[in-house]
Amino acid sequence: MDNINSVWKIATDKIQLKVPEKSFKVWFSKLNLKEIKDGVANIECQNSFIVDYIQNNYLNTVRNALQDASGEPIDINFSIIQKLEDDDISPIFEYTKETDNTDKKQTSNLNKKYLFSNFVVGSSNRLAHAASIAVVEKPGMIYNPLFIFGGVGLGKTHLLQAIGNAIEDKNKGYSVVYLSSETFLGELIESIKNGSSDKFRKKYRDKDVLIIDDIQFISGKKGTQEEFFHTFNSLHQANKQIILASDRHPRDIENLEERLVSRFEGGMVADIGVPDIELKTAILNKKCEEKNITFDKDIINFISENFGSNVRELEGILTKIEAIQNSLQKKLGFSEIQDILGIQIKKTIKRIKPQDVINTICEKFGISIKEIRGERRTNKVVMPRQVAMYLLRVDLNLPYTDVASLLKRKDHTTVMYAVDKIEKMINDDYALKNQIYEIRSSLQ
Ligand code: ADP
Ligand code: MG
Repeated sequence: MDNINSVWKIATDKIQLKVPEKSFKVWFSKLNLKEIKDGVANIECQNSFIVDYIQNNYLNTVRNALQDASGEPIDINFSIIQKLEDDDISPIFEYTKETDNTDKKQTSNLNKKYLFSNFVVGSSNRLAHAASIAVVEKPGMIYNPLFIFGGVGLGKTHLLQAIGNAIEDKNKGYSVVYLSSETFLGELIESIKNGSSDKFRKKYRDKDVLIIDDIQFISGKKGTQEEFFHTFNSLHQANKQIILASDRHPRDIENLEERLVSRFEGGMVADIGVPDIELKTAILNKKCEEKNITFDKDIINFISENFGSNVRELEGILTKIEAIQNSLQKKLGFSEIQDILGIQIKKTIKRIKPQDVINTICEKFGISIKEIRGERRTNKVVMPRQVAMYLLRVDLNLPYTDVASLLKRKDHTTVMYAVDKIEKMINDDYALKNQIYEIRSSLQ
């Protein structure tokens, strides 16, 4: 025992030399080396948040110090002293009873430009929109939490903010707050550093409506998940409304604790999909109206038929055309606009080569090129093969026969079948949708 204590004393002295004083106090003062056994040092710690932080920032410092102090190579294992019960609302930090009203009047972070009145509804976002309206009608009562998910630029943030704005307008005195999960994490870390965790906790557990955007970023962050779990429970039990958005379904967020997955699924989960041509046209018209610009109908049609796997892209195109028109001081005609945008289309298609698509898919699904082009029909290879056919056909616009020969299929009807199948599957297979989204992103 004595020996272990002195090893720890030497090690912490060494760590102290390497770490700023304030940080040392925050992160290391409550650690304790319990034992070193079979080359593994078991370090006890108060909570998983501190473990996360040390693992991400100081693991090598700790390991080196312990190796020096003990004279042997060492692996580190952290254990938490007080394991919290699953549904226990006890906080990670000690909670002092001191009350503090300074945060009562803090801002909601809402942006007044995101409203229901400028959100265009279509088939891909109808459910999410309807659920949002229900939440505004009766905050905390109908869908709690409301969890909205979908790809980038499809309007999640817009809806979240619109809900917040509408609730604030309708219910004077309601405290609403909007933040991203990264801000939540950042403030949590700050509060630990400053010893102001009570204040942090109170700030969010006191809200009537808590809106957290991009919640997927808490993936893998155990300490944040734990703190958020308690925040969630305390609000939920008081019937306070919680609204979350993510780029994927709760079930598809990797390294998210099961108890959070089930909480997130416990209210309403609504997805926002890729807009169809009709919705894209309506959005373009609305945006033109807002910007006070007009385009001929065939230009709008051309844009919505050829662009806009997300709404942000559509906005980008409008802004681009507007900028060119302003700099040339004239209105562009259809063919000029087609030219400008046409060049863009060719560029993206040219940049992505069929072989890149195949390589990326093989990498993503963990199979070889030989396998994807081979004869086997096991699940492991069939799905990636079909996804490859789908992307080569849909994104690269290759003829069916070319796709068939790239994947060594004898018959191009196999390709037609695969494209059709994946197209249908994407609609309700979130995991697949997500995989395809990731493949597309890495190809860009
Ligand atoms: P996400 O959070 O899903 O990535 P955003 O909410 O930031 O997407 O939306 C991207 C842009 O597209 C924003 O400027 C938003 O106002 C606009 N937008 C998205 N969907 C719609 C819609 N249905 N109607 C009007 N604007 C939309
Ligand atoms: Mg967003």
